[in-house]
Amino acid sequence: MTTIHNLGFPRIGAQRELKLAVEAYWRGETDRDRLLETGRELRARHWQQQADAGLNLLPVGDFSWYDQVLDTSLMLGVIPPRFAVTNDTHPVDAAFLLARGRASGLPPAAACEMTKWFDTNYHYLVPEFQAGQSFHLADTRLFDEIIEARAQGHNVKPVLLGPLSFLWLGKSHDGEFDRLSLLDALVPVYQQILERLQALHIEWVQIDEPILALDLPSAWQRAFESVYTRLQLRGLNKLLTVYFGPLRDNLQLACSLPVEGLHIDAVRGADEIGTVIDWLPDYRVLSLGVIDGRNVWRADLDTLLDRLEPLHERLGDRLWLAPSCSLLHVPVDLEQETDLDDELRSWLAFAVQKLDELAILGKALDHGRAACAEALTRARAACNSRRQSPRIHRPEVRQRCESVDASMTQRKRPFGQRIQTQHARLHLPLLPTTTIGSFPQTAEIRQTRRRYRQGEIGEAVYHEAMQAEIGRVIAFQENIGLDVLVHGEPERNDMVEYFGEQLQGFAFTRHGWVQSYGSRCVKPPIIYGDVSRPAPMTVDWIRHAQSLTQRPVKGMLTGPVTMLNWSFARDDQPRAETCRQIALALRDEVLDLEAAGIGIIQIDEAALREGLPLRRGDWQAYLDKAIEAFRITASGVVDETQIHTHMCYSEFNDIMPAIAAMDADVITIETSRSHMELLDAFREFEHPNEIGPGVYDIHSPNVPKVEDIVTLIEKAMQYIPIERLWINPDCGLKTRDWPEVEAALRNMVSAARILRERYGAERAG
Ligand code: GLN
Ligand code: ZN
Repeated sequence: MTTIHNLGFPRIGAQRELKLAVEAYWRGETDRDRLLETGRELRARHWQQQADAGLNLLPVGDFSWYDQVLDTSLMLGVIPPRFAVTNDTHPVDAAFLLARGRASGLPPAAACEMTKWFDTNYHYLVPEFQAGQSFHLADTRLFDEIIEARAQGHNVKPVLLGPLSFLWLGKSHDGEFDRLSLLDALVPVYQQILERLQALHIEWVQIDEPILALDLPSAWQRAFESVYTRLQLRGLNKLLTVYFGPLRDNLQLACSLPVEGLHIDAVRGADEIGTVIDWLPDYRVLSLGVIDGRNVWRADLDTLLDRLEPLHERLGDRLWLAPSCSLLHVPVDLEQETDLDDELRSWLAFAVQKLDELAILGKALDHGRAACAEALTRARAACNSRRQSPRIHRPEVRQRCESVDASMTQRKRPFGQRIQTQHARLHLPLLPTTTIGSFPQTAEIRQTRRRYRQGEIGEAVYHEAMQAEIGRVIAFQENIGLDVLVHGEPERNDMVEYFGEQLQGFAFTRHGWVQSYGSRCVKPPIIYGDVSRPAPMTVDWIRHAQSLTQRPVKGMLTGPVTMLNWSFARDDQPRAETCRQIALALRDEVLDLEAAGIGIIQIDEAALREGLPLRRGDWQAYLDKAIEAFRITASGVVDETQIHTHMCYSEFNDIMPAIAAMDADVITIETSRSHMELLDAFREFEHPNEIGPGVYDIHSPNVPKVEDIVTLIEKAMQYIPIERLWINPDCGLKTRDWPEVEAALRNMVSAARILRERYGAERAG
């Protein structure tokens, strides 16, 4: 019998029940018992769904109130003292306290840091270690949930984040020390956990060590051997679980560790399956993650079976099947997407459907393909229609992509020359002031958009309301004295969705939510087909804004790399190809804005850095394609047109040459939280173009003081010549309130005036 199992199921609930329950609890609208009850209901439902699909082993420990790494910290007693968590603190409240810096009835404290979980759009809470950190078994939830699942009649496999990945993902605030030095204290607690599992007669435990898909220093590689040797326990089988990429230089290590089974990501690491089988001792289980846990496409079961049958022949019952990684990263259930047309829907599989795919594969291996002929026929028909559909494959898009040549990725003259013509055209003062694009999205704006969507108000009324808002935003900016204005983005719900909805090749779900962090979920668009732009997307709004003022209004677009990285992308062509299609569609928008008289166009690339591959050796290939896509979008304009880009993260140090290679005339970035220290990168690598280092943190409601902004800019002047500096906030203002925005921007403009007075007159040109 082929064992089919799952590494983790989305916990948010098909209707985001977890989010709603948690937020209601935070607002004090429900009590803890009600919250705990919702958790139990969700777990029960999800286990049942997995059992109904026919899985042999169900994950336990994948449920979390906020984040599974945070749960591991709580289980191991890694709780920074500032949170004053005591034995009386309910574990749920402890989790919220660490995650949010507050919880009901407890004193506030600075929340734990959050960061991206590998290359997904999920964010985890960073474990905080202190020198001499001790560990102890501080939480029994895992064991309780095992008992809970068994009481419902399920065969379970507890899931643990492995000790090395846990240490790797954490950081120390007590100065730098070698996290590996904590192993001696940590391993005994893992031993204790395993003993408890053994006492519960657990047969298999899944120990996740995703860091085996990363470039690891040799000390960390060596540590694997000693740790896993110490974690051996008779009767308790360990499934060492790696995902998010191939093993590469960690392959032999992973195959040789003293565990009873190994799970590999057989989607991203498909090429390694043979080598893994060669290296794996022949009594061990090999779990192949053949169903893509990172994407929403229905699997090609025929092709998978072609590959799996010989392996099954060879490995017999030692072959297990699973999704490539936890299904946390895909939406819950396609059945709810009744608005999608049947054809498009037939191409997709969400978490529940992926379980069915696993079950079909298992059955076909055990009983022959004839035993599930009908299901295989349906899957085949869907794959064939996807391969051939004219909605997906559009020769004109393909031809245009192939016709891209070097001239399309190149501005006409180099920056040094074109900036002169831009200055001559724009007449901006020294230290020009601007904002990043959005202004507060008031309840009224959101309501107007919602009513328009739902058909309660017509197009004309909607347009008038948005134009009125744009008028107010323009007048406001003139009034407070900003130099380069924006229209404020009132018509945009989301910077990717807004464009995706107007492009061909994108689809949107109603309930396709995926957890981003804590109670926050995102609904990524699905890029299913060749991308094109049927009509201009932003031109009318920006033209209207420009008609209201003599000052330059900046056109505002989301860049191709960000569009791609924040969507579910096609798996039937390289990502770079999809990115290039988007780039060409956006290039047309840029040119239409220029033709409409817009002299400055900003192309946001918030997610460019996020898309970096996990292995450094793969970075350059990604960056080359990303930069090329950006340049295709940006380079069609005349030299007098000024191209801006904006990025909200700021750790550029390692990719400076790529940032410079984007060749944007102006780049605005986040720097205020680091007090401009991030600009160090600009000292070491001389960035030639103009830069707007954000002068205040828009994530905080605090109004920045004029003197503080002045000081920050003077600090920036140590890195970048004043002639090349802009003054702007860190990011868009859509989450803020008007009174804060007004006070903050007034101070920003005052600071600019003080500095102009102090350091010079008009800018050259
Ligand atoms: N132009 C966008 C805004 O101001 C940029 C948002 C972002 O960088 N995430 O909202
Ligand atoms: Zn930003």
